[in-house]
Amino acid sequence: MSGVFVIGAGVVGLTVALTLAERGAKVTLVERSRELGGNASWLAGGMLAPFCEGESAPQSVVDMGKGAIDWWDARVPGVARAGTLVVAPPRDVDEIDRFARRTRGHERATEARIAALEPDLGGRFRTGLFFAGEGHLDPRGAMGALAGALRRRGAEMRFGEDGEGLGPEAGLIVDCRGFAARAELEQLRGVRGEMIRVRTREVSFTRSVRLLHPRIPLYVVPRANGEFMIGATMIESAEKGAVSVRSAIEMLSAAYALHPAFGEAEILEMSADVRPAYPDNEPRIDERGGRIFVNGFFRHGFLLAPAFADRVATLAFERAGALV
Ligand SMILES: Cc1cc2nc3c(=O)[nH]c(=O)nc-3n(C[C@H](O)[C@H](O)[C@H](O)COP(=O)(O)OP(=O)(O)OC[C@H]3O[C@@H](n4cnc5c(N)ncnc54)[C@H](O)[C@@H]3O)c2cc1C
Repeated sequence: MSGVFVIGAGVVGLTVALTLAERGAKVTLVERSRELGGNASWLAGGMLAPFCEGESAPQSVVDMGKGAIDWWDARVPGVARAGTLVVAPPRDVDEIDRFARRTRGHERATEARIAALEPDLGGRFRTGLFFAGEGHLDPRGAMGALAGALRRRGAEMRFGEDGEGLGPEAGLIVDCRGFAARAELEQLRGVRGEMIRVRTREVSFTRSVRLLHPRIPLYVVPRANGEFMIGATMIESAEKGAVSVRSAIEMLSAAYALHPAFGEAEILEMSADVRPAYPDNEPRIDERGGRIFVNGFFRHGFLLAPAFADRVATLAFERAGALV
């Protein structure tokens, strides 16, 4: 067996490729775009929030996601291990109780604690939850760092090349094409996600902040240089298209409710892409026609890619023996 081909340089393909390379495999990564980005991973919040995600995700997501922060922290610079703060407007404080009942790994945050954690939210929220064991990263920087680590390990990276036509003669293939693999993976569906990137010097957060709201739950993830990622919609649709006016109004009004200074922020970007998801919203590893497919990461690509890459790498070595 001569090495392994990984198709797709989203977070899943990059993480799988690096895990294989770290175990000594000869890796070729094939990506149809000419450069990193232009995919769902590029738009992600980068939250590494297994406990918060437990509010709506199965326990397996919480369990598998717990190791993600260490994995990323060991490989990419700038992983923030500052936790997640969850707040709700005074009229929706019941939402905090509901969220607390459905999750683990949190402590109650009083108004004073909220102000101590995030001074800019002082006096704005009476109660919240603090998830100390969570963190976040900047997906674009993190993906660039994984690509750099792959190059240093001698992996070949072929951008601007379509990997769909690679056949069994190429050797072992790990298919990480995200929603583009829909034709082969019939159960895969698209869940549209829209995000907005803004810049303001009037607000400063250290950690991801989630604002609970019965209709428009919102999160704000701080980036460098006064930038924030505001996200994200969850729409049962595989339409990539531009961000809708309704979504923009809802996300920006929720950000304004979190802190009015977001009203003066510059809008740098509004983008949408499609999260690949299976009916149970959990990722899967499938084997078909000599290919290993790893897909369906829904809203947990950064959170779950490390755990799945570990499994995929073990499987790849079982299937192909020495991947050198
Ligand atoms: C707005 C938004 C916010 C999100 N926030 C978070 C978050 O905070 N935390 C988190 O963990 N997850 C988050 N997610 C989810 C996460 O982004 C996805 O789970 C993840 O991006 C899926 O990664 P992927 O590598 O499977 O797919 P993609 O990122 O779509 O990558 C697939 C790659 O395959 C390439 N490709 C396709 N076909 C071919 C071909 N024939 N040949 C070669 N290459 C090909 C594509 O060009 C693409 O680069 C968010 C998603 C969105 C949209």
